Amino acid sequence: MTTLDPNALEREMTGWRRDLHAHPEFGFEEKRTSAFVAAKLREFGLDDVAEGIGGTGVVGTLKRGSGNRAIALRADMDALRISEQAEHAHRSQTPGTMHACGHDGHTAMLLGAAKLLASEGGFDGTVRFLFQPAEEWGRGALAMLSDGLMERFPFEEIYGLHNAPGLPVGQFQTRAGSIMSAEDNFEIVLKGIGGHAARPHVGNEVLIAACALVTSFQTIVSRRLSPTDIGVVSVTELITDGTRNALPGLARILGDARSFRPEVSAEIEKQMRIITDGTALAYNVSAEVTYTREFVPLVNDEALAAEALTAARGVFGAENVATAREPMTGSEDFARFLDHVPGCFAFVGNGPSAPLHNPCYDFDDAGLIHGARFHAAITRQRLRPA
Ligand SMILES: [Zn+2]
Ligand SMILES: [Zn+2]
Repeated sequence: MTTLDPNALEREMTGWRRDLHAHPEFGFEEKRTSAFVAAKLREFGLDDVAEGIGGTGVVGTLKRGSGNRAIALRADMDALRISEQAEHAHRSQTPGTMHACGHDGHTAMLLGAAKLLASEGGFDGTVRFLFQPAEEWGRGALAMLSDGLMERFPFEEIYGLHNAPGLPVGQFQTRAGSIMSAEDNFEIVLKGIGGHAARPHVGNEVLIAACALVTSFQTIVSRRLSPTDIGVVSVTELITDGTRNALPGLARILGDARSFRPEVSAEIEKQMRIITDGTALAYNVSAEVTYTREFVPLVNDEALAAEALTAARGVFGAENVATAREPMTGSEDFARFLDHVPGCFAFVGNGPSAPLHNPCYDFDDAGLIHGARFHAAITRQRLRPA
């Protein structure tokens, strides 16, 4: 049992974070990142380090004492296809790819927690450190789960952190119940008969029908959902095969819908199909709807959210810990783990940084030590030695 020098750990984590930031990798391509993570976990003396779980995922296992309970702590490792606009020394060395969501910071915080817990212990049972690939696509958690995660590395509960720009560094927030939304994607393909812009009556062009659909979709939330339900329907693209002096015979409408309950997601899809079928009929064009569910809603367990808030008060100080007032309409792949075990996802402050997914964003290294300490604190609280 060695007590770590917190200042030395903080400096070390900052080094890891900046190294990861300079070498971002897109989802399922995190080869360098996962090798980096696995090498560190082995250096810390974990009992087992498994690589290649769900593609590029890594699972580290640390056991202490004789307790038979197991908990999981999770970080995400992937970057985004965004060109970084920064001049700092650790800026991305891979053109067109950057850590614009702070997953470099999440990975460094969890590595810091692994080092802390491996050196200082203070718990009785098993901790699984999950480093997941491809969070941004909403595919990495499922890949790990379908690779036998729960059977090979069983655990009973799970915790995860995300940084929050706008929340001061050193502050912590979570809430019981819904905290992040589902994300559905949709595509509507309209087909008609294009033709000369001067002779619209000869064909069946699709642009007017497409515009009617874009407008009508705005009635789904305002007129078809209960006023107490939360939903968002955003049309984000309208693409045709037209040119300036020709009417299009093909149009594609793409977009994104958010909700917090499966029933609301189902209702949005149903209404979208009704409106599309009716509009296509009215404008004498054909229409096909593809509706997919990319992220499921993230619902924190009530008791474990209370546990997370208790652990956070010990780390951040009670005055810096709050119950989030409302859920967010962003989505998180962490939700897939909660289909298997209860858990809690929480936010840690990233100060006045640029927003997530912005080309000027950077993770604030001052937050690293708080995140590592939270992971260690919830572990010691949930796997308390007898
Ligand atoms: Zn993101
Ligand atoms: Zn993220």
